[in-house]
Amino acid sequence: MLKNSSTPQSECAACKKIAPPGVTLMRCSKCKISSYCSKECQKKHWCLHKLHCGKAEYSPPKLVSSLIAERSLRGFIQTAAVLAFGLDKRPPVVDRPLIAECHITIVPDINHIAGILAQMLSPSEIEGGTEGMVQVRSFDAVPEGSDLYTDSRYYNFWLKDIGEESRRLNVTAIVVDFRVNMSKQKISLTLPIPDVVVDLMRPGSDFQTMYGSLSVAGCLRGLNDNIKKDKRNQLMMRVFMSKENVDMYRRLAQISDEDLPMD
Ligand SMILES: [Zn+2]
Ligand SMILES: [Zn+2]
Repeated sequence: MLKNSSTPQSECAACKKIAPPGVTLMRCSKCKISSYCSKECQKKHWCLHKLHCGKAEYSPPKLVSSLIAERSLRGFIQTAAVLAFGLDKRPPVVDRPLIAECHITIVPDINHIAGILAQMLSPSEIEGGTEGMVQVRSFDAVPEGSDLYTDSRYYNFWLKDIGEESRRLNVTAIVVDFRVNMSKQKISLTLPIPDVVVDLMRPGSDFQTMYGSLSVAGCLRGLNDNIKKDKRNQLMMRVFMSKENVDMYRRLAQISDEDLPMD
């Protein structure tokens, strides 16, 4: 993993020791960016570094598209959409989009911090950042009489992205405005709701008989639990959170508690 390098950084990424003049720190052989004074320091730092080694850090649009691209997570959001719009009780809407808002936060993973502490790292060694993960806070149907439906941008976005397919397959498609960390910036994506998901939610379906009736909050809880349990980041919902992003999250946490879904 370690390799000598000709143009090193002068500081060990883990212990912050400065290399004495003439001494070249070793660098991570994968990204060639992080420098270390020893193999031990690299090993200690890997639990953090693996999250951004060779990867771009913390991109909300990328996280939102990964969330929708991952089949199991998408299923939870589609199920929440069926419930939020009552799609099990009405024919598919195929001539226009439905619009929903979904709030996402990226939160520091408390278990990860505990893991770091268990390895007895000092605060200065972890201050560079921590592991964060996506959590979905809310999914709301925009009421169909709302002004947003007169905004032609939604119709055009839907038409260009999915309109044709929605008609052909006779399925409802929803334009979801995602907001990450209470940002004003919306990341819009279209989400088709296949019949099989709608059928699962119909009263009296096998699913309903087995699991009882679900709520939107229940779907989000299921989704969030899956992300929490995904320690190996196979769902791509875990990111490296720099100190600046952790601080931003702390400020958000103070103002947004009342927006969290309650049981
Ligand atoms: Zn070191
Ligand atoms: Zn690296």
